[in-house]
Amino acid sequence: MLFTADHDEPRRTLQKFIASEINPHVDEWEAAGAFPAHEVFKKLGDLGFLGLNKPVEFGGLGLDYSYSVMMAEEIGAVHSGSVPMAIGVQTDMATPALARFGSDELRREFLTPAITGEAVACIGVSEPGAGSDVAAIKTHARSDGDDYVIDGGKMWITNGAQADWICLLANTGDGSRHRNKSLICVPMKTKGVTVARKLDKLGMRASDTAQIFFDGVRVPKSNRIGEEGKGFTYQMMQFQEERLWAAAACLKAHEHIIAETIAYARQRKAFGHSILDNQTVHFKLAELQTEVELLRSLIYRAAEAMIGGADMTQLATMAKLKAGHLGRELPSACLQYWGGMGYMNETPVSRAFRDSRLASIAGGAEEVMLTILCKGMGTLPGMGQ
Ligand SMILES: Cc1cc2nc3c(=O)[nH]c(=O)nc-3n(C[C@H](O)[C@H](O)[C@H](O)COP(=O)(O)OP(=O)(O)OC[C@H]3O[C@@H](n4cnc5c(N)ncnc54)[C@H](O)[C@@H]3O)c2cc1C
Repeated sequence: MLFTADHDEPRRTLQKFIASEINPHVDEWEAAGAFPAHEVFKKLGDLGFLGLNKPVEFGGLGLDYSYSVMMAEEIGAVHSGSVPMAIGVQTDMATPALARFGSDELRREFLTPAITGEAVACIGVSEPGAGSDVAAIKTHARSDGDDYVIDGGKMWITNGAQADWICLLANTGDGSRHRNKSLICVPMKTKGVTVARKLDKLGMRASDTAQIFFDGVRVPKSNRIGEEGKGFTYQMMQFQEERLWAAAACLKAHEHIIAETIAYARQRKAFGHSILDNQTVHFKLAELQTEVELLRSLIYRAAEAMIGGADMTQLATMAKLKAGHLGRELPSACLQYWGGMGYMNETPVSRAFRDSRLASIAGGAEEVMLTILCKGMGTLPGMGQ
């Protein structure tokens, strides 16, 4: 079993925190197009939630990954996808490689403040010309004595406008495109870093998503995470946590929308009975609930494999793939049963419909997940010869 009685107390603390400190404010944050990341992260940091599985020496709690899954699942109860996404970036997308491979000095400088919530982190992989094809990034960090000088640009960076530092993937050599990259911690206040614009999005309206330029940005080589040339490999490892976390954060969000849809469809009457009484409606909602439970089982299995030290790439990829499918299907099906009200911004289902469309694009599009799975199965063209 993934969870024990030890998970109960942090789970309850998080539930109370979401009910008192996050959900009362999300409508305001959605309208404002951003949420106060520093304020929310500091409070979460004070409660220990930003470093659940991070090393104790750097301020983390040193717990296993089941606690991260528990947290991602509970965070899904936030009534906006934006805040869970931003928190996930901090805990499971921008910091795993640093925690695993960073020098002690680097972890003290960047990881500890990300765990206490004093610093907001972001992850800079995607570029205007390279999203799915990560190895094709053009941003490069030229060696100059003990420094790197970075030029290039990153696109769609979550937390980008508010972040204090970015975990940046850049080319540090000219060799094979899978061995010429490094991950580098870059303070966002460094001369030459510009937040060019905050992007206007379909959904995730309370999350800030930025385009960032790097123009002659000089940082010490000691800001590099681990070995030079291993950045692509580290990023691929870091994607496993990102994908599992993102999938787990969908679960409660979907259950909330199913529950809201049941409540709405039960009281709304047409043709002399409630909308919910139509078999096509309550059967469909039962199917969707089943899909959520299937996804949950897959996530738990992947997490158990990870905790046991096994390679969980295929399971985490499947979870991300299914979360993407469900992100398209579930809110869309539920919205239908709200009729005209489903199309109104004031209903939760319309926000869920917009927010969850991202699940099959960001952090690796659905087709990229299928490519990874096919590689694992040895079925990509050329693999069988
Ligand atoms: C709101 C938001 C937040 C984001 N946050 C971050 C962040 O914090 N950090 C970061 O680095 N990035 C972030 N991203 C970027 C995100 O990870 C990329 O958008 C994603 O990886 C897809 O890349 P792309 O947009 O360049 O699509 P492209 O690579 O241009 O692909 C377009 C489409 O082509 C199809 N496709 C791609 N490859 C294949 C293939 N091999 N076979 C078949 N079809 C294929 C897919 O349908 C894909 O959606 C974010 C994006 C959004 C929208």
